[in-house]
Amino acid sequence: MKLATALILAVPTILFAEAGRAADAPVVVTSIKPVHSLVSAIMQGVGTPELIVDGAASPHTYNMKPSNARALQNAKVVFWVGPGLEAFLEKPLEAIGSDAVVAELDKAPGLTKLKFREGGAFEPHDDGDHNDGDHHDGNGHDQAHTDEDHDHGAFDTHLWLDPKNAKAMAAEITTTLVAADPANALTYQANAKTLDDRLDALDKEIAGIVSAVKDKPFIVFHDAYQYFEHRYNVQVAGSITVSPETIPGAERIAEIHKKVGELGATCVFAEPQFQPRLVDVVIEGTKAKAGVLDPEAATLDAGPDLYFDLMHGIANSMKDCLARES
Ligand SMILES: [Zn+2]
Repeated sequence: MKLATALILAVPTILFAEAGRAADAPVVVTSIKPVHSLVSAIMQGVGTPELIVDGAASPHTYNMKPSNARALQNAKVVFWVGPGLEAFLEKPLEAIGSDAVVAELDKAPGLTKLKFREGGAFEPHDDGDHNDGDHHDGNGHDQAHTDEDHDHGAFDTHLWLDPKNAKAMAAEITTTLVAADPANALTYQANAKTLDDRLDALDKEIAGIVSAVKDKPFIVFHDAYQYFEHRYNVQVAGSITVSPETIPGAERIAEIHKKVGELGATCVFAEPQFQPRLVDVVIEGTKAKAGVLDPEAATLDAGPDLYFDLMHGIANSMKDCLARES
């Protein structure tokens, strides 16, 4: 009796699902919040992508959970930046089923890519003894898999902090989704156009917000901001640490403290997930003020608007701290 009732009730549901199947969303998995945000915007009306590095976690220190592994096993499409950023995904993605499409967004056509920088107030990018300036090419690679995952490869992987790069990534995301799920191509393409227009408008807004503080040098916690600087000409004078997973030593802190003093009154920006106490030590006895920047969106809720909140947040934090007179 119970079974028969269940079957009768199930029939219309099956028919309905069958009719809607052509437009069903594929299972899409994304690595970090900024990537998830762009993919979410393009998938609006079709489905919601899954997110691996959720909450306040950082891609630099992330450990895969069993639920992440299950999500990857079911994925039809996976979007990530690349091994230079989400090193923890490199092995799991090698093991993924061959019918899944893995899109490495640091290979998107049209990206501006900047080399890692070092020297001066920027911490060298490894603990090795070579200082010849080109050790990221070739011989830095193997080392990158051990304890220096942050600087794997020859370029800085915080690519999304320039909206022009976000546009290039969005174009690659759209191409990938259209190829993997042609039934929803029109929706992806319409959403992509809306997103592209919003990114152009965002770019202009950010330039306006930071224009008044362009000449004021400041120190950041980890060297994530090159793309933002390159796009908007703000003056990052140094970083406390290049690898957020490595706690800077006393000597390094003393060096930055000295640099902050030499620069005169400016700001030192912490990040929400990394040791804000270190910033207090760095600014102690100087005129510098403390601020917070959140380049990996640790404090923001995931979703299609996150990317815009992230960029506005950085620009407004810079403006608020740097425009304050001591
Ligand atoms: Zn980073």
